[in-house]
Order: sequence, then structure tokens, then C-alpha cells
Amino acid sequence: MNKKPYERPVIIKQYSGLMNKFGTAPVQPPITEIDGVSVEKLTSEYGSPLFVFSERKIRETFRKINRIFKTRYPKVQFAWSYKTNYLSAICKIFHQEGSWAEVVSEFEYKRAKKLGIAGKNIIFNGPDKNEEALAEAVKDGAKIHIDHFDELYTLLEVTEKLDKTANVAIRVNMDVGIYPRWDRFGFNYENGEAAQALKRIVLSDRLNLIGLHTHIGTYIMTAEPYRVAASKLVELYKMLSEQYGINLDYIDMGGGLPSKNTLKGQYLDAEQILPSYEQYADAITSELLKLTLPLEEMPTLILESGRALIDDAGYLIGTVIGLKRLTTGKRAVIIDAGVNYLFTSYWFKHKIVPAQQSGTFTENSAVYGPLCMNIDCLREDIVLPTLKKGDKVVILNVGAYSVTQWMQFITLRPNVVMIFEDGETEIIREAETIEYIAAPERLPERLK
Ligand SMILES: *Cc1c(COP(=O)(O)O)cnc(C)c1O
Repeated sequence: MNKKPYERPVIIKQYSGLMNKFGTAPVQPPITEIDGVSVEKLTSEYGSPLFVFSERKIRETFRKINRIFKTRYPKVQFAWSYKTNYLSAICKIFHQEGSWAEVVSEFEYKRAKKLGIAGKNIIFNGPDKNEEALAEAVKDGAKIHIDHFDELYTLLEVTEKLDKTANVAIRVNMDVGIYPRWDRFGFNYENGEAAQALKRIVLSDRLNLIGLHTHIGTYIMTAEPYRVAASKLVELYKMLSEQYGINLDYIDMGGGLPSKNTLKGQYLDAEQILPSYEQYADAITSELLKLTLPLEEMPTLILESGRALIDDAGYLIGTVIGLKRLTTGKRAVIIDAGVNYLFTSYWFKHKIVPAQQSGTFTENSAVYGPLCMNIDCLREDIVLPTLKKGDKVVILNVGAYSVTQWMQFITLRPNVVMIFEDGETEIIREAETIEYIAAPERLPERLK
């Protein structure tokens, strides 16, 4: 017979379930399945911890946000932000839905090409594009978004050497009322640097100016900054048209739309305080529509949304390793998935939900990962029912930046599976092995 779980009784002050001015703490029902596939089945087949992505959710979210913009503006093109999640299966779904690729390094550029994306459908962003990468992008006819003057001059040299022209835009940074300002990327609007860079480009017969780009930040919590940014790009658009007779193909508003994750230090759930995507779309499109151009001359609105499109399609399943009482009396739950898989837990209060029915008693708990590091805390305070060793938990909204920013640290990274729309599941990234980690290492002869 199994030993019954027993814990020495302690007296703790109970906070959970009490009324405060916002009402009672919500009782979160367990998540026993994802897209109809039971958590139990997933972990018995693929192990724990386990990342799970929902094909259905990705397509649903993409179509919803795409529709919100398309019903407000006639020409809309999404470009999938590779750094947000560049697993091939994930990128492929976005490309099937019609997204171009938005890349910020040579590595990401090559990944997009490997997935069969034509150069003209790759937006090459980022501050670090070396000569080789630029040459490849020029030959492919990619859309190169210039970040700074040194890059502009390098690109001029590259096009000269290749005797080719490059399709370019510039990234513009501007004061949109968010501080600290993201002024380390691109050319500044207010101090005239952007206009100066545009002038330099227009004067060159090697650079074909086709667009304007900005990316004002990430997880932008109000729509107003987008309105300001769009209006400033519209001003530059008009200037180019009036002074140089250039009509640009597109205005690229970048990404930064928030997902449903709640930031640390934010009391209410993100869903309760964030504007709707419709409000963001209104802010952007209403400014672009002020251009009052005939349809064929209207610039395409490009969007590089990352987190908003993928975050809620990603789940991380973990297993309870053990339970403890901290010296404060607080309950500590230790699970097998830590901050090495969830870099984003430094910023967000990820929702962690039990994957099985538990009792009705809940208490404030801290959730720790398995690393032998004090920083390995997923949640400092979360109301959870009583869990026991072996129980499963599901961490929600972890599709963005987790599987690109995760670390191989202390332990190996787990399987990533996808649940397809037909309910079938498949591994989209295999769990790492000791051999995989050791492969690039060399043990010098003298140390053997
Ligand atoms: C990271 C990034 C994005 C995506 O940002 P999200 O906040 O995930 O939407 C888009 N464009 C550029 C240039 C980026 O660097």
C-alpha cells in the first residue's frame, strides 16, 4: 500500500478567497486537456516537462487579427517575427496563412530561406547585418531595413561591388510617449536623422527606396503610441512624395501588440486592462487613411506582430517534484520546469494551472523550477490548490520567446510537440540529448 501523503500541520494566515475591493480570487478550474488531448496522454507519450503548441490556436489567432486589420485597411501584409518563435513548424503555419518572414539576423535569414521563403518576402531587420549577409539579401531581392548610417554605407559598397540595386526601407525611431525611448534602433525622426538618411538613399541609384519601418517596442499597453508612430511615418511618406516624387510601396508598423500575459507588478489580469486589437488597428489605420490616396497608390500596411500571434498557442506542462514549507510558512511547489525554459517569467506572471481535479482548499504558494539556483522561481505568489508529488501543472501563454530564449543550463531542453487540427500530435523539436550537447565540444588531447 502506498504511503498516504502526510504533512505536519502548521498554522498559516489564509488570504486566498477573501474579498478585496476587486471581489474574490477567481477559482481556476483544472486544465486536464489541450485541444481535446489529455495532459496525461501527452506526458506519458512525450515526457515531462513538455512544450505543447496548438495548430488550431495559431491559425485562429492569426485569422482573427488579420481580419481586424483587413476590415479597416485594404492592403495588409503580416510578416512573421522569427525571433519570437523560429521553430520550423511554427513558421511554416504562419507562412501557410500568408505571412512573410521578418528576420533580425543572418541566422534567421537563412532559416527563412530554408523554409522556402522567397527573398522578396523576407524583411531583413536588425542592427547587425554583415557584408556577406547584405550581399545575399541584395541578390535575393530581400527587403533590407537599414538600421544606421554605417550599415547604409556598407550596403552602398556591397551593391556597387555586385553591380546590383537593393530594395530598402529605413527603420525610424521616434518619440511616441513611451520611456525609456527605443532610440538605439534606426534613425531618429525628431532630430531630422531619418529625413537625412532618406535623402542619402534617394540620391543613390543603387538603393531602391520602397518603404518605411518602425517597431516602437514590445508589449505596448495602449494604442496611442501606434497612432503617434503611424502619423509620423505618414509625414515622412508625404515628404518623400512631395519632395522627391517617390511613392512608397509600404509602411511597416513593426510588432509589439501585447498578448494575454500579465506583467509582474500588474494587479489585474492583462485581459481586463489591455485595449482590444480593434483599438490598436483603429489607431494605425486611421492615420494611414489620412493619406487619402486612390486604392492602387495606397501603401501596404505591414505588421510584424510576434507575441500577440503565438503566445496563447503555447503551453508548458510540468510535473510536481516535491512540496515544501518555506520558513515564512508559505507553501513551495517545486516542478520540473524552470526559468531555463521560461525566460519570460522574469517579466510575466505566467498562469500556472493544475492539470487534475484537486481539493477546494487553496493557498498562496511559490512555484520553483528544478534548478539549483535561487533565481529559479516561476511565480512568487500564486493561489493554488493542494498539489502532491507527481501532479501535473499547465503553464499558459508561453508561445512567445520561450523556445527561442530558453537556455541549456544545468539540464537538457525537453520535447516540443504540436497538436494538429485533426487531434494528431507530433514532435516538432526533439528533447536534447547528452550527445547533442557534447557534439560541438572538444576535449584537448593533453587533458585526456
Ligand atoms: C521583436 C520584433 C518584432 C516582434 O515583436 P513582438 O513584440 O513580439 O510583436 C517585430 N519587429 C521587430 C523589428 C522586432 O525586433
